[in-house]
Amino acid sequence: NFMRSYADFVGMVLSRRLVGGALLHTLRARILSVIDGECYSIVYQPIVHVVEHRLVGHEALTRFTAEPARPPDQWFAEAAEVGLQEQLELTVIRKALLNLHRLPGDTYLSLNISPETILKGAVPAVLAGYPLERIVLEITEHASIEDYSLIATELAPLRAKGLRLAVDDAGAGFASFRHIIKLHPDVIKLDISLVRAIDKDLCVRALAAAIIRFAEETNSKVVAEGVETAEELAVLRTLKVSKAQGYLLGRPVPYESLALSGYPPGQPGSLGRSHD
Ligand code: C2E
Ligand code: MG
Ligand code: MG
Ligand code: MG
Repeated sequence: NFMRSYADFVGMVLSRRLVGGALLHTLRARILSVIDGECYSIVYQPIVHVVEHRLVGHEALTRFTAEPARPPDQWFAEAAEVGLQEQLELTVIRKALLNLHRLPGDTYLSLNISPETILKGAVPAVLAGYPLERIVLEITEHASIEDYSLIATELAPLRAKGLRLAVDDAGAGFASFRHIIKLHPDVIKLDISLVRAIDKDLCVRALAAAIIRFAEETNSKVVAEGVETAEELAVLRTLKVSKAQGYLLGRPVPYESLALSGYPPGQPGSLGRSHD
């Protein structure tokens, strides 16, 4: 394992000739200080059944409070460059899970994780003691993973006990279906770039419809990501998408600020907020 990470590290250094060893050292130290100093927080974004106006789950997203200010995907990419991807991803997952028991019992928590981290084998230990039937792992395709059937094999025992798997950003990458086919995901998340144009561009709408049809035929559920307008939601509903996530339905907020009632806000079907 050490040899493998060492080889990865050397390969990474050689492939990024502009990044000197000293800079890498600094970047690594910065990520370690973010982890050790807990310079991050978890926000939760509602996932809503838009036909029944019912909350079905939340996606946990990380917000970094360290300098420089920048979006979370850049922090995770940097952690990957310095060999700390698994450590950072699992650290924030552990933190996100701490609120699971305080979320409504009939809802799930969706956690982002890279295929690389899944293959390292620590997911069963991190999820141990949590109700697997309330957890969804979201994975995004990654160029470095050749064989997605390895991911399926790794997660099979947990999935047999209720864990669900989502493919994130479907329709965004050129190779998406190559791994979707291998993973038999429970959930396919329609990428924000498709949602953004779904009410304006017939080609985009046709591509979304094809993905939705694929999901139907393979028994996957669809969640539309990044829904911002009533127009986008209306088109999604004509395409028989019933679950969605986006600013229209609720922004990602800290657990304490979650409004667990009325989705979209002001609609009937409100959930009572139960505090413990
Ligand atoms: P993602 O998993 O596809 O997350 C969805 C992104 O869309 C989030 O961006 C969310 O804030 C944003 N979003 C949600 N609704 C809307 C909307 O209506 N409009 C717009 N414009 N954006 C919306 P965020 O939080 O900046 O995260 C970006 C990416 O960073 C995530 O994409 C994910 O790939 C990665 N990421 C974030 N948190 C984590 C984490 O805890 N672990 C890992 N491994 N990756 C994470
Ligand atoms: Mg996601
Ligand atoms: Mg996404
Ligand atoms: Mg993404």
